[in-house]
Amino acid sequence: MKKYTKKVFIKTLGCQMNVRDSEVIAGLLTANGYQLTADPIEADVILLNTCAVRQHAEEKVWSEIGRLAKRRRKIASSLEGAPRNDGNNKPLIGVVGCMAQNYKEKIFERSADVDFVVGPSDIGKIPGIIESLTGKKGQTTESGKSSIFERKIWETDGEARPEQIYHTGFFQDKEHAYVVISEGCSNFCSYCVVPYVRGPIRHRSQVDILREIKGAIDQGISKFTLLGQNVNAYEYEGIDFAGLLKLVNGLEGLKEFSFITSHPKDTSVDLFRAMAEACKLKKYLHLPVQSGSDRILKAMNRGYSREHYLQLVDKYRKLLKPALLSTDIIVGFPSEEEGDFQDTYDLLKDVGFDSAYIFKYSVRPGTAAAAMQDDVPQAEKERRHGIILQLQKEISKKVKSKKEEGKSTS
Ligand code: SF4
Repeated sequence: MKKYTKKVFIKTLGCQMNVRDSEVIAGLLTANGYQLTADPIEADVILLNTCAVRQHAEEKVWSEIGRLAKRRRKIASSLEGAPRNDGNNKPLIGVVGCMAQNYKEKIFERSADVDFVVGPSDIGKIPGIIESLTGKKGQTTESGKSSIFERKIWETDGEARPEQIYHTGFFQDKEHAYVVISEGCSNFCSYCVVPYVRGPIRHRSQVDILREIKGAIDQGISKFTLLGQNVNAYEYEGIDFAGLLKLVNGLEGLKEFSFITSHPKDTSVDLFRAMAEACKLKKYLHLPVQSGSDRILKAMNRGYSREHYLQLVDKYRKLLKPALLSTDIIVGFPSEEEGDFQDTYDLLKDVGFDSAYIFKYSVRPGTAAAAMQDDVPQAEKERRHGIILQLQKEISKKVKSKKEEGKSTS
């Protein structure tokens, strides 16, 4: 008789780092005999790879869990009397990633339908956890825990994942691959939960990074994005980020690459020079400014001033002309007044970004800003968000047509 292969559906929310983590998980699961499915209905296991950066992202996860739980109960009632763990209590629901790390076992208190919770540094344990919850032995019960914790597993104590968990050789896309160069962040911007859920910054060795890229090139992939929460801070055994760009640029078979995300306080003219010299590097910089107000930048603990940021932009454009530039903006940060907002508006107008991602501030529990009064009313956040969105729409259109004009006259 043919052995039944369990099917896993992975839903990814959040940033590119999560996209890459989902690929890593997919690689681990397929290597352990699981089959991936794009159809959640036929899945035995559903993994939600979550984001904790904004409240909105978390709300999406809770409503997804609610939907899945409802479906599971419907299946269970149609199979009444069937024992658990005979494959009928499907799908198993696992919450993985930043939200898992942030809430740990508290997730089970909010939804008893979640079966397991795994933080980003523990994703290597997922195949074993699924096996333990669905295998013959069937359950993990932590003595002394209240009954809702029966049959639940949570793994959120890992501090750093082993090298092989960054690199399983599995890439979803056949042309482009994300490659993690560093993980975590030690900047502690006051609004951001990343340093708490991903831990302090850790860099992978250039040897491992290059080996991973070469492996992907051997699979026919020729375009790459180097990933990290703050790639500019990369440093490993005397090689800094500019040095790494040079090494990656020199790889045979690699046609094009780019990187995200940069931090203005760690971005320098030296980096722009290295970017200019790397012929395969896409001339694109995502440089989050977050606010145009020095007072708000200070409250955000960003470590640079408006003036410093504008100087960087100026140097970047002079050295890399023509080059793309994008940013992130947060409106409605605690104590943001009309004057601060106007500074952001003016900065956007002055710089003329190719594109910008605009967000409304939301409190992230445990961060320094959570202790500040969230005093910009929601309606005002919406108004500021709408104004900046509209402005950027007009700017993007203008910048694009100017560039196209330039192309046709050159
Ligand atoms: S640099 Fe700031 S915003 Fe970016 S991940 Fe680190 S703490 Fe968060």
